[in-house]
Amino acid sequence: MADERNFDLEIITPDRVFWKGQALMLELNTTEGEVGIYKRHIPMTMILQPGVMKIHVEGGTKEAAVHAGFLEILPEKITVMAEVAEWPEEIDINRAKEAELRAQRRLQTHDPKIDTSRAEIALKRAIARLEVAKVR
Ligand code: ATP
Repeated sequence: MADERNFDLEIITPDRVFWKGQALMLELNTTEGEVGIYKRHIPMTMILQPGVMKIHVEGGTKEAAVHAGFLEILPEKITVMAEVAEWPEEIDINRAKEAELRAQRRLQTHDPKIDTSRAEIALKRAIARLEVAKVR
């Protein structure tokens, strides 16, 4: 029999339906911090931050890197609209390591022309990718 705690989850990016199905809990990094959302949450929207998304389903957990976008929470359904989302096997580890080093170097210089908030976000994206790819 279907688990009563399941809710409908749809994760969409501009180019694909990233994942769609029944989930027990969804963990994400948002502007309000790390959140874990269950069925029957009060309706609200949240803004995504780069991080590891964990989709808890019956019998396991799927992880993906998600970098920007927002989510709409309804009591029976959560929709994630992500600008970029990647499964572990889609991540180019060397590219992520290079992006991490580039961002770290930018943050270490004291050049006023450097947009530090942009470098910080790029660093978070690289760290999320390396975490999902189990490099750390
Ligand atoms: P980079 O500096 O390496 O371009 P980025 O964080 O600026 O990284 P994004 O703007 O987040 O890149 O993504 C642009 C596109 O490149 C997206 O389609 C994203 O999936 C892809 N991409 C970026 N980095 C990686 C990676 N390490 N592995 C796989 N795809 C990646």
